[in-house]
Amino acid sequence: MIVIVGGGFAGISAYNQNKNSLLIDKKDYFLLTPWIIDFACGLKNIDDIRVKYEKVLVGEVVKIDFNERRIILSNGQSISYDKVIISLGHQQNLPRLKGAKEYAHKIENLQDALELKKRIQEVRDIVIIGGGASGVELAGNIASNVTGKRITLIQRRDRLLPTMTTASSNTAKKILTELGVNLLLGVEALEIKKNSVLTTHGEIKSELTIFAGGLKGPVLIDAFQHKNKNHRLIVDEYLKSVEHKNVFGAGDCATFEEIDIPMSADVAVSSGRISMKNALGEEIKFKPKRIATIIRIGDKFFGDFGENYVEGNTAKLLRSMAYAESLMIPKMG
Ligand SMILES: Cc1cc2nc3c(=O)[nH]c(=O)nc-3n(C[C@H](O)[C@H](O)[C@H](O)COP(=O)(O)OP(=O)(O)OC[C@H]3O[C@@H](n4cnc5c(N)ncnc54)[C@H](O)[C@@H]3O)c2cc1C
Repeated sequence: MIVIVGGGFAGISAYNQNKNSLLIDKKDYFLLTPWIIDFACGLKNIDDIRVKYEKVLVGEVVKIDFNERRIILSNGQSISYDKVIISLGHQQNLPRLKGAKEYAHKIENLQDALELKKRIQEVRDIVIIGGGASGVELAGNIASNVTGKRITLIQRRDRLLPTMTTASSNTAKKILTELGVNLLLGVEALEIKKNSVLTTHGEIKSELTIFAGGLKGPVLIDAFQHKNKNHRLIVDEYLKSVEHKNVFGAGDCATFEEIDIPMSADVAVSSGRISMKNALGEEIKFKPKRIATIIRIGDKFFGDFGENYVEGNTAKLLRSMAYAESLMIPKMG
């Protein structure tokens, strides 16, 4: 029996290749995480982002005994496997700032999304920490779709979207500035308080502080594999664990030792597919490749297609192409 632990983009993609496998997830629904921001801003309903699994064993994986080939769930249940695909996703790396645990909101799961949606309606002053894709889309989409909010975006680096082209950074800056977002670039958050954020440029009022930066693998990976990278399972080019036999890694929780596998839905989908094919006996090398990285703020689309900057209809088309397969994923069975 091939067992898949974690039914996100990678896990469902793996399952779709082999419906005789067993899928385990801690919840009974698939979550379309890329739409959490739209949901929080009131642009999507809960049933647009949550899709019930057709067939799943619901349980939280707490341990894998690689010698005995057994998966242990939090309720004590033990499931044996011949091969296992680990696809447990990512966690947000909350900053080690004073007050972060108590007052910073994450954007990781459905509970976070529900809480965020409620809080966005209730408050006026919102501070977002992190100027990557999630922070930029969050700031821009709250500003475009929810009226009467004062939004500040704090970015430690001196430009937004630091992993993208400078043209994309400049467009993000222009659109957010036009929307009235208070951009603090090259500024660091020092402490998160109940009603403010202390930064290297003074204290900013905040009734809702959202942390939109820093991803890591699930901390549970440390218990699975002695050798890991930022809590991500290290796999070889066939997505096999470098430490354990009959163990594969797919999606955000797995990476190569030398280069980082990008954490994105489309890459997770292709790694899920290849991990299952290889678990079934094929020998396919995984070459992580993103079609494009496109940002959407309101009705504006822009981003990077390889090294090139794109915007407007071209960007919109590329985004739907990058998403096409990912969005089909929950329609399993
Ligand atoms: C706000 C936000 C916006 C994003 N926007 C985009 C975007 O625009 N484009 C893009 O490509 N990517 C985007 N991403 C990233 C994308 O969502 C991830 O790269 C993708 O979800 C990775 O797929 P995965 O299968 O590895 O993990 P996930 O989809 O997270 O699935 C992991 C699964 O493991 C399960 N699980 C975890 N721990 C356990 C356990 N102990 N026991 C049992 N089950 C467990 C979870 O319930 C979950 O179902 C965004 C992410 C966020 C949070």
